[in-house]
Amino acid sequence: MDDSQSDGLFDGFREECGVFGIFGHPDAANLTYLGLYALQHRGQESAGIASWEGRRIAVEKDMGYVADIFTEARLSRLPGKSAIGHVRYSTAGESRLENAQPIVYNTNKGPLALAHNGNLVNAQEIRQELEAEGAIFTTSSDTEVFLHLMARSRRDSIVGALRDALARVRGAYSVVLLAGEKVIAARDPQGFRPLTLGKLGDAFVVASETCAFDLLDAEPLRDVEPGEIVTFDAGGVASAAFAMGHRTAFCVFEHVYFARPDSVVFGRGVADARRAFGRRLAEEHPAPGDVVVPVPDSGVFASLGFAEASGIPYGMGLVRNHYVGRTFIEPKQSIRHFGVKVKLNAVRTVVSGRKVVLVDDSLVRGTTSRKLVRLLKNAGAQEVHLRISSPPTTNPCYYGIDTPQRKELLAAQKTTEEIREFIEADSLGYLSLEGMLTAAGRNENHMCAACFSGRYPLPFGGVDEQRSLFSRF
Ligand code: AMP
Repeated sequence: MDDSQSDGLFDGFREECGVFGIFGHPDAANLTYLGLYALQHRGQESAGIASWEGRRIAVEKDMGYVADIFTEARLSRLPGKSAIGHVRYSTAGESRLENAQPIVYNTNKGPLALAHNGNLVNAQEIRQELEAEGAIFTTSSDTEVFLHLMARSRRDSIVGALRDALARVRGAYSVVLLAGEKVIAARDPQGFRPLTLGKLGDAFVVASETCAFDLLDAEPLRDVEPGEIVTFDAGGVASAAFAMGHRTAFCVFEHVYFARPDSVVFGRGVADARRAFGRRLAEEHPAPGDVVVPVPDSGVFASLGFAEASGIPYGMGLVRNHYVGRTFIEPKQSIRHFGVKVKLNAVRTVVSGRKVVLVDDSLVRGTTSRKLVRLLKNAGAQEVHLRISSPPTTNPCYYGIDTPQRKELLAAQKTTEEIREFIEADSLGYLSLEGMLTAAGRNENHMCAACFSGRYPLPFGGVDEQRSLFSRF
């Protein structure tokens, strides 16, 4: 089968998401809306909020941006003191409302809503088994297996049912559940994706990233630990470990690109980590430049670090148009090749006649870098030296970050010199794996850097084949 097709079982393995939950606040849905606003970078395809309105779970979800989906009228249909929310991103193919989260089911354990960030590596297997027994799935997202497994649990309590479900699933998950008025948060035993707890007055909040707390003026308390279930209800807060003793596998790509720089993720400020990557990069790959130019916004903090360590002045040689949506449609075939120019333009007065050190966080397919090098040269840059604040991306992610298949990853196909030639840069340097992990403050025994190293901390037996069979890419 052409791997650009889907067979409709699962939509491939390319979801990036953000989750939020709040317990014990009269404005639960409104605050969830704000929380999702701060987490919008984690997913722009769809968003949803579910709240406990006393007798049932109310839910509002749709395709698009948080700000466009949630009108006052929609938020007013989400009463109650407990709510959870989700933003989702799956990059290509048809986007489907049925896959938007939270997923809400009325089960034998009562009404349940669930929001998931991450990717399960054995969802396909579980789904096939359940379908063979007659289960009917209504989405093509791996997330739905959580609810099926919970509904089938023989235990009466919600946490017991969740434990049963978590004993079956393998992979990366930070989940937030609404079970009646209870809000429950859980994180996989290796802690691939972030999940943090906070307090807002007497209410409790949980979010993928601390930037959501900042917006609400909530106080961050601590991370949900890998292998921990935290429950908020009228009786207070309860914590239970469902898996212990696993090596952590915190995703280094959260630090490289995905998380917001104003967040603290896995106990480390993201902006600080990026700056440290940039400093280390300057030591490993000095460049003969007059000005250090970031690719906005992804390369900004690494560029600052590079400029600090190299002594080369920092200059905003590229400016971003913030009003370009994801679905920019080129207006006319005959005036194509807008490409990256719509989003980024060179500042001639900063780059003209200069040797530019261009810094970005990662190079995936190489198309962005190639266009930017050309853009800078057309604006008069004498030389362009590209520096990447992470190692060559050589392997796909199976744990929840959107990466293309191996064959589309430029560094899996070409040497660094061949890539340099392709992007037409005067020189190219990547941060080393060891340099990145040192700057991130942890070694590879505690972080997942599989997209760079190929060493996958959790077996994904079968996913590779499933991916090529079922993914839409
Ligand atoms: P490319 O043109 O494929 O080399 O894309 C590289 C650019 O995409 C860099 O500027 C990154 O900041 C950005 N990027 C890297 N990974 C992702 C991702 N998973 N989702 C969206 N953008 C990404």
